[in-house]
Amino acid sequence: MIYDIVIIGAGASGMAAALSARSGINRPRILLLERHSRVGKKLLATGNGRCNLSNLQAGMLDHYHGSHALAQPSLAACPPDKIRAFFTSLGLETVADSEGRLYPAGDQAAGVVDVLRLSLQEWGIEVLTGFEVCGLEPSFRIAARDGRTVQGRRVILCAGGPSGEKHGGTRDGHKLLAGLGHRITPLYPALCQLKTEPEAVRALKGIKYRGSITLLENGKAVQRETGEIQFCDYGLTGIAAMALCRACAQGLAKGRDMRARLEICPASHEALMDLRDRIPGRLLEDFLTGLVSKRLGQRLLFHAGIAPLSRRADSLSEAELRRLATLLSGWTLKLTGTQPLAAAQVTAGGAAAEDFDPMTLQSRLLPGLFGAGEVLDVDGDCGGFNLHWAWASGIRAGECAAASMG
Ligand SMILES: Cc1cc2nc3c(=O)[nH]c(=O)nc-3n(C[C@H](O)[C@H](O)[C@H](O)COP(=O)(O)OP(=O)(O)OC[C@H]3O[C@@H](n4cnc5c(N)ncnc54)[C@H](O)[C@@H]3O)c2cc1C
Repeated sequence: MIYDIVIIGAGASGMAAALSARSGINRPRILLLERHSRVGKKLLATGNGRCNLSNLQAGMLDHYHGSHALAQPSLAACPPDKIRAFFTSLGLETVADSEGRLYPAGDQAAGVVDVLRLSLQEWGIEVLTGFEVCGLEPSFRIAARDGRTVQGRRVILCAGGPSGEKHGGTRDGHKLLAGLGHRITPLYPALCQLKTEPEAVRALKGIKYRGSITLLENGKAVQRETGEIQFCDYGLTGIAAMALCRACAQGLAKGRDMRARLEICPASHEALMDLRDRIPGRLLEDFLTGLVSKRLGQRLLFHAGIAPLSRRADSLSEAELRRLATLLSGWTLKLTGTQPLAAAQVTAGGAAAEDFDPMTLQSRLLPGLFGAGEVLDVDGDCGGFNLHWAWASGIRAGECAAASMG
């Protein structure tokens, strides 16, 4: 049996590619290959089980990194409205939260996987699970690790990247493309925790706050994020801190000095003196309670070398208030690393953009081969942008692969 289109990987981009290819006028015969025993394993873990599947701003290129040239045509062809309409056509409604993040109306990632799985069945798309692709020949003969082979006229590679290893991430897609002569740019973790010197943060473990965080590369500010930041026993987590991971990993790999400046709350030395004078009798254990959470306030006093907490506010010296103001408005921590790629939400880097036609996502090296999703050198911000790229590029690759059948 020779299939018109064989798709490797039944994750977000692979299922979108299959459904969009099948809806073409020539109704190609499609086979979707998946190494796991079920489709959409990683999708189930997304958005803490709620699946933040897109974002109302997902059409804007500045939310993406890697190759903008490769990303732009697919994003322009598949704006958020089209992704919502795609899911509506499958029977799934989406809702936006106050920050524009799109979720399934049922608030369950499992619902997204179910409608995709059911639609694959209803649309007559063959799915082979437990088929771990280990060989892809230029003739489009595809071999599985257990010895089975299948043949396609077109192939769409949607095997994702090595991030999220415990949710099924692999390097297989990059290996298969490299075997066909495609170049792979260096891979870095994106959207994961930052490591600091542990003694600086360990006592703050578990404390979270909303504030700003700036990434400094050799002392120069290169990225600033505002949102939730949380201390953990080895460093910083929370959406705002994780957004710095990509640039931090790249800077450290180049041997740069990377630091994070925390703006916990905008308190100047003068403002703290004024506060001291307004609440002279309050004990230090509650001195910052009106500005930040009580526990964080106590830890900051400790870090500023101010003790004991049983002292009264009016005992605070100018020097102590100055140290405290520096910590509150610009506490700078040396970054020693990030969590590894396997633990990241997304892979930054991937199959080099120059080897693909951005209009069709077809390989320039091997016509008939298409790529989509995280395997390519495109990654997005936190907030639904990565899944948006997976759907948009999958739909684009599926449409173009089907159209290329004539
Ligand atoms: C914990 C977590 C939470 C996340 N939450 C969000 C979120 O809320 N919003 C968001 O936008 N993004 C989120 N992401 C990122 C998002 O999941 C990915 O960007 C997206 O899934 C990429 O889609 P893909 O189709 O390229 O790859 P994947 O979804 O990883 O799919 C690739 C598929 O290929 C299969 N495969 C791999 N190798 C082979 C092989 N050799 N043979 C056969 N099959 C193979 C894999 O098993 C997998 O099913 C999250 C990621 C993680 C890890």
